[in-house]
Amino acid sequence: MRLRYWTALILVVCAGAVLTVRQEQESHTPEEPGGTPAAQVQNSEEPLQSTAPDHEQEEPAAPPPAEGKLKAAEKPGLRPSDDDAVKWSRIVSPGESLDMLLAKAGLGAAIRAQVSDALGAEFDLRKLKPGHRLDLELEQDGSPRMATLEIDNGVNIQAAFGTAPSVKVLPPELETVRQAAETEIGTSIYAALDSAGIPTRFATDLELIFAGTLDLQRELAGGERLRIVWRENRLDDRVIGDPMIDFAELEMGETRYEIVWPDDESVRNSIFKDGQPLLAFDQPIRGARLSSPFGLRKHPVHGSVRMHHGVDFSAEHGATVQATQSGRVSFIGRRSGYGMMIEIEHAQDIQTVYAHLSAVNEALEVGQRVAAGDDIGNVGSTGTSTAPHLHYEVVVKGRAVPPLTDTRLPGLSDRKPNHRNTSVLIETARDQLAQLLATDG
Ligand SMILES: [Zn+2]
Repeated sequence: MRLRYWTALILVVCAGAVLTVRQEQESHTPEEPGGTPAAQVQNSEEPLQSTAPDHEQEEPAAPPPAEGKLKAAEKPGLRPSDDDAVKWSRIVSPGESLDMLLAKAGLGAAIRAQVSDALGAEFDLRKLKPGHRLDLELEQDGSPRMATLEIDNGVNIQAAFGTAPSVKVLPPELETVRQAAETEIGTSIYAALDSAGIPTRFATDLELIFAGTLDLQRELAGGERLRIVWRENRLDDRVIGDPMIDFAELEMGETRYEIVWPDDESVRNSIFKDGQPLLAFDQPIRGARLSSPFGLRKHPVHGSVRMHHGVDFSAEHGATVQATQSGRVSFIGRRSGYGMMIEIEHAQDIQTVYAHLSAVNEALEVGQRVAAGDDIGNVGSTGTSTAPHLHYEVVVKGRAVPPLTDTRLPGLSDRKPNHRNTSVLIETARDQLAQLLATDG
């Protein structure tokens, strides 16, 4: 029963991963088992409630807006503006284009084009989808003052018109909320998380981070205790983006494993066994989540077993990629399957590879030295990739090795936290867990 459950889980992991030899397909489905409420909201095909009265939806576009025709938006949180502005607001319904929305606001063709061009400068309008939201502010004469398009995850594209036109991408103002929960493993980690109200996607995170350290499928017998601290970003009542684990504690009989994930200040994952540091892994992207492990996996579509030569991190397009260790740039450019990539040589015959980039740091050239943590490029989806992510490899003597567990990459020992820092790290995490569990009752 437990085995079957895990088999199902692994297949889902495979479906979200791309497993191939060097030129293999790297595809990711952003959704994983137990998709977050945020993801469900974003991808909902249901038209969301519009702030405009229904009868306005049937009105033809052509006439320019007359005073009083447009209803003021009633959305709380809309920027305050001058009293004489006419406001209009609508959530995108299935099949609606921006031009159709603007027509429903009563804008003429020339102004619709002006607004579309402005917003289109920072957002691919073909990606407009149900759930996105348009807020318009118009002058009394019908000319546009401000157009704001809320796209995924609370990001706003804001175009200002008039004497000082501009288009800006505004990040959402998110509230970070930390939570903790405890659960006992019965048939599977997935089921245990689910029963305790913990995001089930963490089952995948745990499996990936433990890969090479502890075989969860074989070693879990049931009855183990699992405690997790995680954080969510919220915008109003919505969870935005993926929840992230900060700390996990797994009690297996007499043995206790603890994992501290990177927070905003660190790029290092650390695994502890009975309080002693067992393994540390420096991430090339701060706070990113592993989305595909190293090694042989059965391809979900073709059914063939293929090798994945690195690990994948899911991250937003444009997220900053950092060198995991110091070294010298040995390659910048495109390689089949890898797309735009950068390779750094850290010692004779030891390299790290960062692939599918959208951009490489322009200041870099081959032969140049970089330090650990230097910004080297941005996440993209170039090469054989269907969604933005970073493919990260560690290569030793021409062979890709497991990046999370192989310790031959120079610099790992240098950056190992000293004993005192390690104690602080683990004790801080434990304190937070205890506090949160006590608070939650
Ligand atoms: Zn990959």
